[in-house]
Amino acid sequence: MEPQHSAACLNCGRSEAEFPVLVLRLAGHEVFICPQCLPALIHHPDRLTGTLIAAGWDGETPPPGADAGH
Ligand SMILES: [Zn+2]
Repeated sequence: MEPQHSAACLNCGRSEAEFPVLVLRLAGHEVFICPQCLPALIHHPDRLTGTLIAAGWDGETPPPGADAGH
């Protein structure tokens, strides 16, 4: 895995060079999200689960609300 030189939003891909991004800690991983995409994580965390896994999360623990659709 390459070292991460530039943080980018996990949802829209905008980099910290273009826009401020927030650091999220999840299951020992660091991921980044921009303020514009934060509401998506708050209201629809299930939609971002696949994205979070792709960002390096192992997916062992569902994020809050991931099973809200049941
Ligand atoms: Zn974003």
